[in-house]
Amino acid sequence: MDTMGNLRRSHYSNDILPSINGDQVVVFGIVASIRNHGKLTFLILEDLKGIVQLTIHANSVPENVRSKLNNIHEQSFIGVMGKVKSTEKAPHGAEIIPEDIRVLSVPQSMPPFKLFKQRLPNIEKRLDLRAVDLRRPQSKAIFKIKHTALQAIRGYFSSQGYMEVQTPKIISTATEGGAALFPLLYYNKEAFLAQSPQLYKEQLTGAFEKVFEIGPIFRAERSRTMKHLSEAVSVDIEEAYVTYIDVMNVLERVICHTIANITENCKEDLALLKNKMRAPVPPFKRVTYDEILELLHREGVDVSWGNDLFVSDLKKIERKLPEFYFITDWPTSSKAFYIKSKDDKPEICESFDLMHGSLEIASGGSRIDQKDTLVEKLKERSFDPALFEYHLKVFDYGIPPHAGFGFGLDRLMMVLCKQKNIREVVLYPRDQRRLIP
Ligand code: ATP
Ligand code: MG
Repeated sequence: MDTMGNLRRSHYSNDILPSINGDQVVVFGIVASIRNHGKLTFLILEDLKGIVQLTIHANSVPENVRSKLNNIHEQSFIGVMGKVKSTEKAPHGAEIIPEDIRVLSVPQSMPPFKLFKQRLPNIEKRLDLRAVDLRRPQSKAIFKIKHTALQAIRGYFSSQGYMEVQTPKIISTATEGGAALFPLLYYNKEAFLAQSPQLYKEQLTGAFEKVFEIGPIFRAERSRTMKHLSEAVSVDIEEAYVTYIDVMNVLERVICHTIANITENCKEDLALLKNKMRAPVPPFKRVTYDEILELLHREGVDVSWGNDLFVSDLKKIERKLPEFYFITDWPTSSKAFYIKSKDDKPEICESFDLMHGSLEIASGGSRIDQKDTLVEKLKERSFDPALFEYHLKVFDYGIPPHAGFGFGLDRLMMVLCKQKNIREVVLYPRDQRRLIP
């Protein structure tokens, strides 16, 4: 095997253009394909920017290159020094005629699935060898879109004056109660992985007014589904002096900004994923919980008031609500203890879910900012207020009225990348059955 020696990249694949005809260049990448046509051998080299063709002429190839050719297989990592030659037959109008090749890594075995063909084995098989599965163009497209989405989200919040924060992921008690937590041994005590940054981000509104966090949430989900993972990424904001209506406006704007950014900057990736998405325009449709029950009733589904909405039921009204929409004004009993009730109708709370069809993307609401009310709500749900003392005592020093939301980045990615299984949009997904790789 060769080493890089002092060979360093001078160009990426997409820089190999007719305008630099005759120049000497150095490229690095992975061999995507090798084709032999009698006296001509074509190698397609793929790097982070795309592909470039290397053409080897049997008659004029230098001996050092010829001797390397037999060692090169598809999926080998190589470095190439050569001259650019413009030709209409090559991708972006130019190819490289190699003068020196360094074979840096040769696969000992071929991936158990074709990386560049459509027929794929099931996702579990691919996840077992995820690092290699991620070399598929469709996989790469998904994570380029995710990267672009993250940049757009960060850019949007920063431009609107939100401060990016990180709250602890190792916590002493249930953040919200309810959902199952992962316990862990913290020195000699029991601790848990945080299921959400909820209480911390609320506390931070007293100091910073407007905060956002992009970080992991951990949930021991009881059932294995296409949209739940044990570890997901949540985009959270919390803001002082606003209500749930204001943060719904923020949420739809950040979603529209993000999608506009992706449709602008990831055209090829979207095309590869067969997503002909157009950026939505705010405002999104807003439907109350009561109106949803009415729509469901008309489809012959009767949900008793106060119950959560099942995905299987929401699917029945997907034709009427196909894209992004909000379900607002949920029954107080169906939402977490820290969500504020309506002043004139305490059985309903100032809350919303952002949906895309039957998929929940986000939940948010106005929060309770009075300590007594919060204590009351905890007791109503049989939580011990003593466990929340670290949080409740902050309220003794005053906290501004505030509202916020948390949206599942991976859920949004399912929409943006047109994927039915959340595992496709997470590099190394975690679920009940999977802890490796
Ligand atoms: P669901 O009803 O879909 O289980 P939830 O209402 O329990 O979600 P929230 O507590 O409202 O979830 O969390 C806020 C957002 O975080 C959700 O709207 C969703 O986008 C995302 N989310 C929650 N749990 C998971 C999970 N296990 N895997 C991936 N994303 C999740
Ligand atoms: Mg929710």
